[in-house]
Amino acid sequence: MSSFEIKAYPELWQSLDMDVERFDKMRLMMGDIYEKTYLHQQNRPAAMAYFDSMIAEIHGGRIKELLAAKEEGRPVIGTFCVYIPEEIVLAVGGVCVGLCGGSQMSVPDAEKILPRNICPMVKSAYGFKAGRICPYFQAVDFVYGETTCDAKKKTWEILDRLVPTYVMEIPQCKNPRDIALWLEEVKDFKSKVEEVAGRLISEEDLAAAVKTMNNKRKALQRLNSLRHHNPSPISGKDGLLIEQIAFYDEPIRFTEKVNELCDELDGRVNSAVAVPGKNAIRIMVAGTPMALPNWKVHNLVEGAGAVIVNEESCIGTRYFKDLIDEDVTGMEAMLAALTDRYKEIDCSCFTPNDERISQVIKEFRDSRAQGIINYSLQFCHTYNLEEIRIREACEQEGIPYMFIESDYSPEDIGQLQTRIEAFLEQLEG
Ligand code: SF4
Ligand code: SF4
Repeated sequence: MSSFEIKAYPELWQSLDMDVERFDKMRLMMGDIYEKTYLHQQNRPAAMAYFDSMIAEIHGGRIKELLAAKEEGRPVIGTFCVYIPEEIVLAVGGVCVGLCGGSQMSVPDAEKILPRNICPMVKSAYGFKAGRICPYFQAVDFVYGETTCDAKKKTWEILDRLVPTYVMEIPQCKNPRDIALWLEEVKDFKSKVEEVAGRLISEEDLAAAVKTMNNKRKALQRLNSLRHHNPSPISGKDGLLIEQIAFYDEPIRFTEKVNELCDELDGRVNSAVAVPGKNAIRIMVAGTPMALPNWKVHNLVEGAGAVIVNEESCIGTRYFKDLIDEDVTGMEAMLAALTDRYKEIDCSCFTPNDERISQVIKEFRDSRAQGIINYSLQFCHTYNLEEIRIREACEQEGIPYMFIESDYSPEDIGQLQTRIEAFLEQLEG
């Protein structure tokens, strides 16, 4: 019998027109997986209790906060990519939630209509809406997609039948004319958010939102730097969990809680308290995002006694490594500064993307890792192809390297476990 429980809110789910019976089964399964994956870890920081509570309330407490925002006329907007500027949503008092799917449970719903051979993250997200098995999807006023990859941009046309879906055109190059187009797209996003909120964003609103998000990103940077200590004071699983919760928690509260955790980790670093063992092999993960509850690779790596010390990923450093200049004034210049920050995100959908290759090597050095696992979701062409350049750079730098291409199904777990264990043995020398 599981002692951890994700709380049930059947009446609330019913009011959101969800498939309550099916969703409740998923809730129980996820609670069970969470307990085994997270609560059985030894010597976790006490401040992880807040993040456990965020998981316990993932389908209720936080949803109530979203619905309260809607009641007050504040828009609730769903996104799928770190290129959609949350600052603009916060500036009207709205709420931004990440709707990327990291679960196999919703994939069959998607495969009833979408092709099977597309990225599991797109299928999982679409399936949550199609099956009416995600309260976040049911609660949002609209969703804002982007044109980062073919699977996503064509899925938005189909998703629009189920929920109003708007699309931001993200260019594929970073030349001045691309950035000019990007800025116009950001302005369109601002207009849409203002239209739904029924009010315009002032410079003060935007400045406050930029500060809030910068503070949130600084807290995540602080946590990441703490993970780089050897021994690492927190497990990679917990690090990833916090990065995942960042996409749905209230930003000011989340920032406070991450900083509280960091204060505790500072103490652990000073007294060399490590989770897990002191001599654990240190691994850095690079590649495609791992949306909640995708803990597959972390589970296997840490289950084999190693520790993950950095995620070069959108659910990881790509989300928080860059800040927006807070000293800029005037709406036009502020929006340009915001766009400037977003263009620093080095997703593989861009070409050329030399910045990412150098960034992977930099993060490897900063994190004091001993090897890199480059992870790509199945059918993600851009990350799969960029793998060539990451591998070559690692060969050149003498960095031990392993590539994993996987989806959300449990079918390849045995094979991955064998490969990961062999890689760790190689690192042990
Ligand atoms: S990997 Fe690219 S497309 Fe996916 S969330 Fe990150 S920036 Fe967006
Ligand atoms: S992982 Fe790749 S294929 Fe999947 S949504 Fe992101 S960019 Fe698209």
